[in-house]
Amino acid sequence: MKIAIVGAGINGATAAVELAQRGHDVTLLDPGPLPHPLAATTDISKVVRLEYGADQEYMELAEQALAGWQEWNREFGQDLFHQTGVLYLKRDEMKRGTYEWHSWRLLNKRKHHPQRLDASEIKKRFPAWNTRRYVDGFYDPEGGFAESGRVLLRLVEKALALGVRLRADKAFQELHETNGFVRGLVTQDGRKLYADRVLVTAGAWTHYLLPWLKPYFRANGMPVFYLVPNEPEAFRSTVFPVFAADTSLTGYYGFPINRDGVVKIARHWDGREMHPESDERVVTASEDKDLRAFLRSTFPALAQVPIIHRRICMYSDTWDGHFWIDHDPEHEGLVVAAGDSGHGFKFAPVLGKLIADAVEQNPNPLLQKFRWRPEVKPRKTEEVARFVKRK
Ligand SMILES: Cc1cc2nc3c(=O)[nH]c(=O)nc-3n(C[C@H](O)[C@H](O)[C@H](O)COP(=O)(O)OP(=O)(O)OC[C@H]3O[C@@H](n4cnc5c(N)ncnc54)[C@H](O)[C@@H]3O)c2cc1C
Repeated sequence: MKIAIVGAGINGATAAVELAQRGHDVTLLDPGPLPHPLAATTDISKVVRLEYGADQEYMELAEQALAGWQEWNREFGQDLFHQTGVLYLKRDEMKRGTYEWHSWRLLNKRKHHPQRLDASEIKKRFPAWNTRRYVDGFYDPEGGFAESGRVLLRLVEKALALGVRLRADKAFQELHETNGFVRGLVTQDGRKLYADRVLVTAGAWTHYLLPWLKPYFRANGMPVFYLVPNEPEAFRSTVFPVFAADTSLTGYYGFPINRDGVVKIARHWDGREMHPESDERVVTASEDKDLRAFLRSTFPALAQVPIIHRRICMYSDTWDGHFWIDHDPEHEGLVVAAGDSGHGFKFAPVLGKLIADAVEQNPNPLLQKFRWRPEVKPRKTEEVARFVKRK
């Protein structure tokens, strides 16, 4: 088929590679430059983890992705995935029913080897942590982080080598449709691009480009901070791996120091709803203040260090936190792959196959979870609070 893909973030790039490998004629559009500075994919690091609470489907998919990351490191001839392990620490006992407890149980059930930690073990192995506040948790040696922006560039190179036509100076304006059949798309400079399928992978922009999707998606901005520690040694991955600091309570998670001497810390929280190109897309003084309070309570050695960069990164949120990968029943020929809800990048090595199966309408059991589901409604306020805490 002739396939036009709208948006060259990780969803678009992995789909372009897979669809080209399956012999389709693929054009990939993005206003560019790539990686696009406002894209969610564009960053120095993203967490790669197995832990998904009690959700076995996500853990299985994450296991496949982990094998894929090892394979990509070999294929790319450089490590863009770093297996530092992931640390989940709690401010109280890891109780039954919590996200960490369910993850611990499922990891053990699936024969992984997470290491349980108490306060003295945390102090000995991960001395940057304030062990008067963090007393329980576990370390999973299998996870780590991937250099998302650099991975994106390698995949775009791969797509070009497979004959994908990249238009990194073109923006989608609207579908080109006749009688409910998608014939292609129109770009913002008024040109028509004919295609058998239009695949929209525009992340947080998706429901702005396809307004009838507004009831199902929100674009939520999350704060991300880049700090320069005074004692770099204390933040090397051997003693400061990727971490989640009692996320259902604080929302904060972060990464070891990178080759440029930077420690990235971000917050997974309610977020602020906005258009991805809104003027409001700046980190606020209160988000800064919250971070400083968190650092004082958790990493005293980082409490006063300089923040050299801040950004608001956009989630394409769905109401149930699951991805949205399916054909639009009202627009024959349109396929949407968005709704990352802040957790899609880690699946990059298996994402292309998933999206390509959806485009080709191949039977793939996992696509049931990501199907077109207008029946999923916004949660009541108190439910949202509980849901955000759990996600
Ligand atoms: C703060 C934050 C932290 C995250 N941390 C993690 C993590 O630790 N682990 C993890 O697994 N995931 C994480 N994620 C989620 C991950 O970043 C996303 O799942 C992934 O990057 C989404 O990719 P995408 O291709 O859907 O969207 P994007 O990367 O946003 O790409 C969308 C593309 O669409 C393009 N576009 C926009 N408008 C148009 C148009 N009109 N025409 C053509 N193209 C257009 C944009 O230029 C952009 O390149 C995080 C996300 C955020 C925001």
